[in-house]
Amino acid sequence: MSGKLYLVATPIGNLDDITIRALNVLKEVDLIAAEDTRHTLGLLNHFEISKPLISYYKQTEKARSEILIEKLKEGKNIAIVSDAGTPGISDPGEEIVKVAIENSIEIIPIPGACAAINALIASGLSTKEFSFIGFLSAVKKEKKEKLEEIKYETRTLILYEAPHKLKGTLEMILEVLGDRKIVLARELTKIHEEFIRDKVSSILDKIETIKGEFVILIEGSSVSKKDIEEENINSLSLDEHYDLYKNEGLSKKEIIKKIAKDRNVNKNEIYQYFINKE
Ligand code: SAM
Repeated sequence: MSGKLYLVATPIGNLDDITIRALNVLKEVDLIAAEDTRHTLGLLNHFEISKPLISYYKQTEKARSEILIEKLKEGKNIAIVSDAGTPGISDPGEEIVKVAIENSIEIIPIPGACAAINALIASGLSTKEFSFIGFLSAVKKEKKEKLEEIKYETRTLILYEAPHKLKGTLEMILEVLGDRKIVLARELTKIHEEFIRDKVSSILDKIETIKGEFVILIEGSSVSKKDIEEENINSLSLDEHYDLYKNEGLSKKEIIKKIAKDRNVNKNEIYQYFINKE
């Protein structure tokens, strides 16, 4: 019988944040696959757990997944851990889960710390709906394109960022998304935990003095993509509006129906307009 694959969340700072279940799983599995074995060894030593470790990081994820799957098929139970927080969230994990599913291996998530979720719940921004972006690309052009893409996202946005890139990223957020309300969740669960809640420009004024690990949360856009499209449609003349749909290959009947819906008017009014023009 195949072994089980456990995805074990570990602390993001405060070691007390490991769960009893996580500790039990780490004690009971046959092997722990860790992003950085030395880092995980520190955690295991702290909890007096001794287990064989295998490294499993982004660059080796594909090849190592195959090896781990073989071991799982042999009946070994394996835990995946990352350096901090929840595996698979801007950390290795996604790849092995896919291969494990293909091989009908049971996957068991062991809940625990996740910087994004803890930053969100204390941010004061809307928690009803949110969009997790993770790390933006290190390539400036791609980073800007991503921000353009999410400009009209109305959900709270959650980003991870390396400390030395924080200033540059905030400058680009200001340029592309405007002077929105943002929250920097700094050093979560650690001694210097702090929430900085302000407009991007005000935070940039203070930024030189800020150090540590951060989650960036951005208030969702007050204007949605749909609003923009509707605003644009409302500024069109009826003839321009007609041409818009004609170019999409719609029939006259369909076009009139769509225009009436877009403008929230009776379709006979629109029909009348085009009849009178003929
Ligand atoms: N898998 C992790 C999780 O569940 O949150 C995230 C790992 S990702 C490689 C590391 C990023 O998470 C950091 O650059 C930072 O943006 C965020 N992060 C991790 N620990 C944090 C902490 N204690 N306080 C604030 N942000 C943290």
